[in-house]
Amino acid sequence: MIQLTSPAPLENAIAKARAVKPLVRVVKFGSYTVTNKTTGATYTVTCEKRDGRRFAGCTCKAGERGQACYHVAAALPAHLQLAHERATLNF
Ligand SMILES: [Zn+2]
Repeated sequence: MIQLTSPAPLENAIAKARAVKPLVRVVKFGSYTVTNKTTGATYTVTCEKRDGRRFAGCTCKAGERGQACYHVAAALPAHLQLAHERATLNF
């Protein structure tokens, strides 16, 4: 898992996610699958909040090494959107 403190370490990953345009599916809140439509490779991204800090992890090789991969960058907007909706709807 990597701790998400600022978008800066994710900049390269975000750029790659924009280029690859992977398919993001919501498994449940905090759990997403990201599929590279070219290679068909699918990884699971998890996002969670602990002690007010945000963490994200991915099942790909880079993610297992604690690096910010483009799968996390791709899933993050969906997660933040869901988190915002939950907060707004007071779940
Ligand atoms: Zn990954």
